[in-house]
Amino acid sequence: MRRWRLAARVCGAWLAAAGALRAAEPATKEFIWAIPKAELHIHFEGTLEPEHYLELAKRNALPVRYATAAAVRQRQRDGRDLKSFIEVYEELLSVIRTEADFREVTLAHLRRTKAQQIVYTEMFFDPQMHTERGIPLATVFAGLLAAQAAARDELGVRVEYIMCFNRDRSAESALAILEASRPWHRRILGVGLDNPEEKDFPRKFAGVFARARSLGLRATSHCDVNQPNTLAHHWGCLDELKVERIDHGINVLDDPALIAAVKARGIGLTVCPTLMEAEIPGRLEFRAKAVKQMLELGLLVTINSDDPGLMRGLLVGDLMLAVHQTVGLTKAEIVTLAENSFRIAWLPEAERATYLAAVRAAAAIK
Ligand SMILES: [Zn+2]
Repeated sequence: MRRWRLAARVCGAWLAAAGALRAAEPATKEFIWAIPKAELHIHFEGTLEPEHYLELAKRNALPVRYATAAAVRQRQRDGRDLKSFIEVYEELLSVIRTEADFREVTLAHLRRTKAQQIVYTEMFFDPQMHTERGIPLATVFAGLLAAQAAARDELGVRVEYIMCFNRDRSAESALAILEASRPWHRRILGVGLDNPEEKDFPRKFAGVFARARSLGLRATSHCDVNQPNTLAHHWGCLDELKVERIDHGINVLDDPALIAAVKARGIGLTVCPTLMEAEIPGRLEFRAKAVKQMLELGLLVTINSDDPGLMRGLLVGDLMLAVHQTVGLTKAEIVTLAENSFRIAWLPEAERATYLAAVRAAAAIK
């Protein structure tokens, strides 16, 4: 018996050492693809691929300025600042009109992400961008919820939704959407804020967020990268909006007190090292280094794709690989990124535990 126990101890120690060796190994594409992942920073409107845009325009008999998907992509590449980015964004999403369109666009994205083992998605959508062009809220929700059911039944993946308000629109408009959407509040997880970061942000939305929280909704907000007054905006999101996550949030690294607060409060950070950044010299490297530094600090950092339809179609697996190729990630760091994506997801605890166990099981096999 004693000999067996000794053998078990030696064997256990050997396995632990082998596991540690594997964990310290550099990540590979195969390893990254095999690990189950969640995505928490993805905009429905930004998932539309140029080919699908042209198809929907044709089906809905809408005029387009582009003859080919390549011409759409060229227009996307030409837009370098946030203003032109949003112009293209709104131009493309204008072809999404019917319940079937909302369903199809969501499902097309989830089909692509499933191939990279993204098994759970919390997707932003911007109702103001649709209601202002005459699309009823009921159409938006019907399409998104039909996609949710089809994702579960046909693809075996899960999608949930976060309703975003636009920071360049009024607080009154956000509040009106919040109230108008009450019939569907049980079908969404929470609220967020996106679009350009204006100087009255985030205080302008404190009342809207208080109301959302009182209605049982969770809260997150974008704090885009290197924006004016970014540190004040981060603090405002934490203290006035009482967010649980910050979308992007790279400038947290500029303030030791903010790092400490984000860590102590368990705030999730949804960083997006996208290809658009890769095309501007130094910017992917900047974001990839931030991911590495956040991992080393023990922050709850994740990698996300933001608007893959507008950013050359790169998904979470592609971006993890890009970060690895830029700063070098170990297998253990890839596992931590995947675990973080489920740790900060707005999941019931039992489901979180199931996803985390699946991550560890996949990591052990590889
Ligand atoms: Zn975003």
